[in-house]
Amino acid sequence: MPVTGGCFCGAVRYRADGGLRNARCCHCSRCRKIFSGASSAYAEVEGFSWTKGEDSLSVFKTHADWGVCFCRLCGSTLAGQHAGKVHGVTLGSVDGDPGVAVQMHIYVGSKAPWDEIGATAPQYDEGPES
Ligand SMILES: [Zn+2]
Ligand SMILES: [Zn+2]
Repeated sequence: MPVTGGCFCGAVRYRADGGLRNARCCHCSRCRKIFSGASSAYAEVEGFSWTKGEDSLSVFKTHADWGVCFCRLCGSTLAGQHAGKVHGVTLGSVDGDPGVAVQMHIYVGSKAPWDEIGATAPQYDEGPES
């Protein structure tokens, strides 16, 4: 199933004609920093292309042949790159239902001390009642 997505400001857009697979959340300290969150929510892509604003992208090299593509106007992290090719996308940048759900949490041994993964904290559809 084809998937589309883009950044917060709308400058950069993409599509993945072959859809997504292997969705996971990595809780390692590097992913927490680069995605500024509890984890990376990320899936591999098939048939990826940038459809708008590729000139607004920057690539930050994370290690070896790997990098993260982000919009330099709004800062959204959009994709992971390996050897110059897009390898996967951040689930938060996908429009609507990506057609996959997170299959695994990895590097949980180094998760943030405040991160409660599916634990006993209350869950709200919106905010708590005030
Ligand atoms: Zn943007
Ligand atoms: Zn990680």
